[in-house]
Amino acid sequence: MDEDALEYHRTAPPGKIEISTTKPTNTQRDLSLAYSPGVAAPCREIAADAGDAYQYTTKGNLVGVVSNGSAVLGLGDIGAQASKPVMEGKGVLFKRFADIDVFDIELDHDEPDAFVESVAAMEPTFGGVNLEDIAAPDCFAIEERLRERLSIPVFHDDQHGTAIISGAALLNAVDISDKDLESLEVTFAGAGAAAVATARFYVSLGVRRENITMCDIDGILTRERAESGDLNEFNREFARDLPAGGLADAIAGADVFVGLSAGGIVSQEMVRSMASDPIIFAMANPEPEIGYEAAKAARDDTVIMATGRSDYPNQVNNVLGFPFIFRGALDVRATEINEEMKVAAAMALADLAKQDVPDSVVKAYGDQPLQFGPDYIIPKPLDARVLFEVAPAVARAAIESGAARRELDVDEYVERLEA
Ligand code: NAP
Ligand code: MG
Repeated sequence: MDEDALEYHRTAPPGKIEISTTKPTNTQRDLSLAYSPGVAAPCREIAADAGDAYQYTTKGNLVGVVSNGSAVLGLGDIGAQASKPVMEGKGVLFKRFADIDVFDIELDHDEPDAFVESVAAMEPTFGGVNLEDIAAPDCFAIEERLRERLSIPVFHDDQHGTAIISGAALLNAVDISDKDLESLEVTFAGAGAAAVATARFYVSLGVRRENITMCDIDGILTRERAESGDLNEFNREFARDLPAGGLADAIAGADVFVGLSAGGIVSQEMVRSMASDPIIFAMANPEPEIGYEAAKAARDDTVIMATGRSDYPNQVNNVLGFPFIFRGALDVRATEINEEMKVAAAMALADLAKQDVPDSVVKAYGDQPLQFGPDYIIPKPLDARVLFEVAPAVARAAIESGAARRELDVDEYVERLEA
């Protein structure tokens, strides 16, 4: 795999994206329209009304994928330069799944203030900013500050992507196992970027905050640990009034386990200690907290299992979210990606999983039957219908929540996407 990947990236031209022109450039006249002197006309229009940038430039279809390389995949803090293949790869996915263009921006800033200033200064260029692979806890404050300052969407995918896609999975898992969101006991392993954002999002979906127990490497996030200053300001919000304990204590009796921590830390014994028909989202990459087979074999009732892996059912893959969420947001010139838009995306994904799957999608996944049930609670990334369902749902939610700068007829929009 490594040698293949190096070859893939090295083959001329190096890397995997390029810029191409979209207007005629054949004649002297073409060039004088594209650049001086013709270009002055759109400049004047935009100077008079900044919103015209959406009409005369690429702004409305251009996303900045911005990282400082401080928490890259499973590689850790490898720095800005070494993160460039990942950010270019994110650009490939934006283009392939939603025809969105990307500038990948790798910023050599360890320090949040400088990072925020740099990204804020780039607002004129982009229709939206996808923050990527920034370490917790800085990622929370960086995103919060940029969301406040910028009037374009700012979305840290490592937080919200996982939250939204596993949130869709949760909606369907709860449905299948006949559980009730409001009484659901949910235990998290992990209290980092993905876990905190996911727990916050589950609250938006209807899980009660007081029913969430979160563990980090030192065990349950308790009120006592919060008061002793042991927790940061972001995971402190999930500290619970419980006695000190470890993951085994936290998982006993839980309806749902959400793993966003480290591989192999959940035993079959722990799975057996959960409530009936447990829901297990073991999403540590590349090795889940517990494997699919081990979790399923641990008990006789129905275990609904999702992981981050493509070789098992129910892969929680961020590519189900960010391309389509940004597509919908850009197409209404949204000022932000708010909670309503995220919830709409999760609901659209959950609904789509209940529909019959086209043969072409079944074929692309090795002819395994794909039918709504414990082993199919979220759509597959290569299912083209995801675009037609999620982008319009996000656009509609943006319009209804007041985040859209442009209204559009959503039915017409769906037809346009399908064309
Ligand atoms: P992060 O910010 O570094 O957070 C990791 C968290 O896991 C920390 O709170 C850490 O606790 C905790 N942890 C580590 N070992 C643990 C253990 N043995 N028991 C309990 N908690 C433990 O990382 P992240 O970005 O949130 O990602 C976390 C994991 O989720 C990674 O494996 C990542 O690949 C995976 N992930 C998967 C998806 C997906 O499937 N779509 C998406 C995002 C992330 P301390 O703070 O005490 O060190
Ligand atoms: Mg990432």
